[in-house]
Amino acid sequence: MTCADWQDKFTEYLENTLPADARQQLDAHVAACPDCAADLAAFLRSEQTADFYFEEYLTGESYYLLHYLWQDGRVTSFSQQNLLQQAGGKSIVLARPAQLHRQPVAESYVRVLRQLGFWGLAMIEVIRRGDEFVFIELNPRFWGPLQLTVDAGAGILEAFVADQLGRPEFGSQARAGDAPYLWLNGLLANRRAGKQPRWHVPPPAHPKRFLLRHLTHDIYLRRDTLGLFAHELVSVLRTTGQS
Ligand SMILES: [Zn+2]
Repeated sequence: MTCADWQDKFTEYLENTLPADARQQLDAHVAACPDCAADLAAFLRSEQTADFYFEEYLTGESYYLLHYLWQDGRVTSFSQQNLLQQAGGKSIVLARPAQLHRQPVAESYVRVLRQLGFWGLAMIEVIRRGDEFVFIELNPRFWGPLQLTVDAGAGILEAFVADQLGRPEFGSQARAGDAPYLWLNGLLANRRAGKQPRWHVPPPAHPKRFLLRHLTHDIYLRRDTLGLFAHELVSVLRTTGQS
């Protein structure tokens, strides 16, 4: 990264929208580079903070509310607690089923979505702050969580298919299981890149043993995707060799 690259990030720095690792790197560069330090000081003096949109950086228990909102008004719901996440707020690599979708906060989000005329998949990220839950974002698609809902028998995928086919009678009979999901290669790739994945819960005493216990729930370590698992693992290992 050149000094110009760092200076391009000053706006995000001021808005506090840089991921934590990028912010630390920028701080480190500015501390070591008099040019950038002078530039940042001048930038901070010249900008009106009222012109910026500030976001608070939250830490706390992290959850995804997972909903399928049917076109006929029904809703099929599930939730997961996020345990381990790639650095910089990237992908969740370990999560387990939760009960948050049974709490009033889940209903309040569904009500808002209904008022907006929304139907379809809704993955809502919330962070717990004391007794309240703070809305982070909504994604109209699932990735790892889709596997979790299938393994847990949450009926979300079944609801999606039935609603899209116009065959609501095939809808879900949810049986709540407790299967977690793990994306081992996502975790390894992050580690090999020298990044520090983030625990959203107190880290287990023996992280390796803890992760191995979840290996049977890896997203790709299944009979029909074994090739993908191997392919990903090989590319993770190759990347290491080059770096
Ligand atoms: Zn510089």
